[in-house]
Amino acid sequence: MHQFTIAELVKGLRNKDFSSTEVTQHYLDRIAFIAPYNATIVENYLNSGVVMLGKTNMDEFAMGSSNETSWYGPVKNPWAIDCVPGGSSGGSAAAVAAHLAPAATASDTGGSIRQPAALCGLTGIKPTYGRVSRWGMIAFASSLDQAGILSRTAEDAAILLNDMASYDAKDSTCVERDVPDYTADLNKPLTGLRIGVPKEYFGEGLNSQTAAHVESAIKVYESLGATIHSVSLPHTHLAVPAYYVIAPAECSANLSRFDGVRYGHRCENPKDLNDLYMRSRSEGFGAEVKRRILVGTYALSAGYYDAYYSKAQKIRRLIKQDFVDAFQSVDVILGPTSPSPAFQFGSKTKDPVAMYLEDIYTIATNLAGLPGLSIPCGLVDNKPVGLQLIGNFFAEGQLLNAAHMFQQVTNFHQQTAPGIE
Ligand code: GLN
Repeated sequence: MHQFTIAELVKGLRNKDFSSTEVTQHYLDRIAFIAPYNATIVENYLNSGVVMLGKTNMDEFAMGSSNETSWYGPVKNPWAIDCVPGGSSGGSAAAVAAHLAPAATASDTGGSIRQPAALCGLTGIKPTYGRVSRWGMIAFASSLDQAGILSRTAEDAAILLNDMASYDAKDSTCVERDVPDYTADLNKPLTGLRIGVPKEYFGEGLNSQTAAHVESAIKVYESLGATIHSVSLPHTHLAVPAYYVIAPAECSANLSRFDGVRYGHRCENPKDLNDLYMRSRSEGFGAEVKRRILVGTYALSAGYYDAYYSKAQKIRRLIKQDFVDAFQSVDVILGPTSPSPAFQFGSKTKDPVAMYLEDIYTIATNLAGLPGLSIPCGLVDNKPVGLQLIGNFFAEGQLLNAAHMFQQVTNFHQQTAPGIE
């Protein structure tokens, strides 16, 4: 029908060959938004025959730990619908936990795969920075962002990482390195695996029942033949402050393109160019995103760059060194994923710092560029909590092996939210 000229359309309408409604519907169907290109990871999946079911909700520009900053409103945690699913990839986590999909893609800048995995009772893996292409993902903090997977089991995560990981010349941070078969070593015995337990991950702020579940998981690993070693990551307490300088600094640069001209929301009837920029950005961005743009712009400004941004980068280097030192004597680092189970909607929105502390155990991994994984290890108040395993650079296979073996002798990953069949 779209081949017809207007003269031909008029003729057809007069002859009643078709109705005006049919012509309109035909054009509306053609107009329906089709993305002009796919992210590399989506393309990789399509090439492997994976079917994409749809898009999921998330915190605005991936900034948040509860899904509450989403422009669309938050999704609910299938385990307790008055509670958050975690964030920012809370929509993906809720969808998998509610059995709306067998697995989902997600992204993690400071914990956004592992924390929702913990809060929704799932397996979640953030690969090493550079293992997976970020091309086609909207950038939040480019030196920290990484795509990964939310699934029910470590075995499923391994199957999906095989297709997700690839070298991609379109992402200059993607590492040119062969992708091993992540399923190959899933059943390797854990005899002699050296697990480090950082004492800094068991301090103030950790819910006591969550700590007890992590302690029980340590016993499971001992029974599987692993040896447990106390390690120290002495700069852990600086991870959240350093992240909340670096991530906002990078997001303030990345989000400058959303100016109402090139990208994003555009305000109505601007008076002039300045009015267009100011109103488009004021109307389009939510409160948390604005807070971070302000913090980031401030931290990067000429007078404060050395005091904040450059200092945070030095701290980042020390945090990475902590891990490099620890991995001299252990293979995997183990601790809690998040300090407590899912919390009620609204309970942390008034206090950004309380929300930021949700990622106290996950953020350092992103600052160092290391792979991290969360698996369910018990229930607290009938809600799941997660066990985090952190690996050395490109040791995803080892992490998945350790997680899979745990899941062979425990059934936390098989528990489902009440009412979900
Ligand atoms: N919760 C952290 C933040 O708000 C991490 C988010 C993420 O990993 N995308 O920045």
